[in-house]
Amino acid sequence: MTFLETPIEKLPKVGPRYLARLKDLGIKTVKDLIWHFPNRYEDFSQVIPISEAMSADHKTLVNIIGEVVDIEVRQLWRGRLRSITEAVIEDDTDSIKAVWFNQPYIADQLSLGTRVSLAGQVTINKGQHILSNPTYEKISYLTSDFQHPTSNFTHTGRLVPIYPETRGITSKYLRFLIKSLVPQIKALPDPLPRAALAKYELPTLAQALYSIHFPESDHEVDVARKRLAFDDLLLFQLRALLDRRHMGSLTAPQVSFNKDLITKFVSGLPFKLTDDQRRAAYEILQDIERPFPMNRLLNGDVGSGKTVVALIAAYQTMSEGFQVVFMAPTEILAKQHFQTITSLISNFQFPISKQSRKEFPIKVGLLTGSEVRQPRRQDVGEPTEASAWHQENRSMKIGLLTGSEARQFPVDITEEEKISKKLIQSKIAKGEINLVIGTHAVIQKDVKFKKLALVVIDEQHRFGIKQRMKLLKDISNGFVPHLLSMTATPIPRTLALTIYGDLDISLLKEKPKGRLEIITQVVSDKGHKAAHEFIKKEIQSGRQVFVICPRIDASKVEESDMNLKHRIPELKPAPKISQTKLLWQDVKAVTQEFERLSKEIFREFKVAMLHGKMKPDEKNKIMADFRDKKHHVLVSTSVIEVGVDIPNASVMMIRSADRFGLAQLHQFRGRVGRGEHQSYCLLFSESEHAGRRLKALEKTSSGFELAEIDLKLRGPGEFIGTKQSGIPDLAMTSLTDLDLIKKARSEAKLLLKEDPTLKKHPLLLSCLSQMQKMVHFE
Ligand code: ADP
Ligand code: MG
Repeated sequence: MTFLETPIEKLPKVGPRYLARLKDLGIKTVKDLIWHFPNRYEDFSQVIPISEAMSADHKTLVNIIGEVVDIEVRQLWRGRLRSITEAVIEDDTDSIKAVWFNQPYIADQLSLGTRVSLAGQVTINKGQHILSNPTYEKISYLTSDFQHPTSNFTHTGRLVPIYPETRGITSKYLRFLIKSLVPQIKALPDPLPRAALAKYELPTLAQALYSIHFPESDHEVDVARKRLAFDDLLLFQLRALLDRRHMGSLTAPQVSFNKDLITKFVSGLPFKLTDDQRRAAYEILQDIERPFPMNRLLNGDVGSGKTVVALIAAYQTMSEGFQVVFMAPTEILAKQHFQTITSLISNFQFPISKQSRKEFPIKVGLLTGSEVRQPRRQDVGEPTEASAWHQENRSMKIGLLTGSEARQFPVDITEEEKISKKLIQSKIAKGEINLVIGTHAVIQKDVKFKKLALVVIDEQHRFGIKQRMKLLKDISNGFVPHLLSMTATPIPRTLALTIYGDLDISLLKEKPKGRLEIITQVVSDKGHKAAHEFIKKEIQSGRQVFVICPRIDASKVEESDMNLKHRIPELKPAPKISQTKLLWQDVKAVTQEFERLSKEIFREFKVAMLHGKMKPDEKNKIMADFRDKKHHVLVSTSVIEVGVDIPNASVMMIRSADRFGLAQLHQFRGRVGRGEHQSYCLLFSESEHAGRRLKALEKTSSGFELAEIDLKLRGPGEFIGTKQSGIPDLAMTSLTDLDLIKKARSEAKLLLKEDPTLKKHPLLLSCLSQMQKMVHFE
């Protein structure tokens, strides 16, 4: 066991009582302790004469050095105040009184004649200057400290580190523990090659660790942070490069790119592709031709037309005789995709089978968790030249629909027939279904594919895919299918380079032409009434309205004002609120809003409510009813996926918009403006101050721009759940530092080029495997 791996209880002064509390702070080993960084420093570096302290203003922070000339403890037993320790400290210039509450032992520590350094606040009580509860540090007469008293100070007379604390674990205690490890810290080996340190002008690890705990200056802190963040970023880059290499070693089915077929398919679309769509499709088609799996992210705003890009790839893949999976995060979205895709491909000529040299029909299946039904074999659509649905015996389309959804099917289904899950599975296994659309039910162990070559994942949480890779291999006959993830969450460039470093990314920046801009307006307190009136007019002219309730965020429950300053995230344990409790909080919020809207503000209209505690059936019914215009207003929590197209909805109203990130608000905004009506996004704001941040949404309709602003203002936590990702805090804050990221990236490349298995860098390798353990991607 190395020094760093030593369990914390092996240290002197870590008794069982402290042990449990240290664990609450996530400190289990010596390494955890040393990597428990201060979140700020108190500047006591200027030691002043006592005379100066005696004339300081109330509440001034001062540091003095003097001799104890009097000290006594008064027992009080008055409620919580049990004792007062009073001391008089004197130097050449003056003397000052110091008091401590409930710490009688201090009198034993600071006996008469002790030389002491005191750091704390001056308070003026009845005209008298006193130091209340100062931090004290004894100065020994025997050492050189006497001449240069501050040089070896830990708690006073310097930049004093303040750590994330918890009950019973003070910064003083943490400082004390860490200080005792300084000799070992200074001897720590460096995982980075010397050459890299010189090239990037970084201090050694030992130096950086020492500086971050006991710095001489702010500059030293900055340099140390940079070095420590560099390590984390480097590990990320190494991980990403190794993941890429691993992907490259797997075998994927090769899907050859038939340009004529694709040109025909594209020219048959009811619209002209944007340049970005064209480029993205081309990138994907080239990827899937290769013998190793694609791992690509298609990133584009809501409405930028990602589906059709994925469909082009899917069409090519199916034409080559392979199967495709299209995965959506919810059942509702899966059904929506099913409808869009079946209607799009029903317009196209079927590909010619290589074996039989005949056209073959594309069969689409919908597989979700709930009951499934299948429409009878039938003809579909109007006879057109391009349509092959009408040819005898080739028109079977397996629509596995739930009853309530059947009328949404783009073709007229008169009869339905239940189909068992078993039957679908066997059809998939036999390769009789070419395209399976569904929720994650489609990649379960019990679904085996005959020739799965492409998996499209829409709006799925990116993390977790790696875990699924093995499953994908199992269910697809040993091949690893190509992977296309799609997301509307715009990913800032710096994040793309680190967190998503193992992915190739295609961007859809431009929107299809001819769309009406959504008019966005921040509504302050005074404007609420007028906004409600405006909404009523919209409803009266036939439109529908979404209302999003504020998010209940456990970690922000206590935080009254948004902290916009860029800072090291505090490790203070968030109030422990369980997921379930949070959900219920959400339900409460949405219920209140629903009451208010349905009984007061919009009482003449039909208002419905949607939240995460409802059963899937219930949710589906409400969404379907809303789409069928049975409700005018739909109130929902932010966690609910309202991803379904409601072209008739023209207003998105967001309560307490200040509580959301800009990128997320932009997502909500994308839920309207999907039809031909002019649409509006109303951001109700609680404070003038926060309203200013929201103004960015009024000005730009680019999700990418907003994401960059968000990243600067709120840090990367908005994009990647901090806690889930397990990304170290320093790395988190450095995720905005493009320059440092680029350096880490080029160093990672260099390291792997010179030492592909990192065997010459065992320290890095072990850090890497530790990170692997820590970062739970799900
Ligand atoms: P998203 O990227 O949000 O998934 P969709 O793929 O659902 O967007 O596309 C939104 C709408 O835009 C769909 O109705 C789609 O048919 C349409 N669309 C896609 N590409 C174009 C285009 N190039 N021109 C016009 N409309 C398009
Ligand atoms: Mg979509």
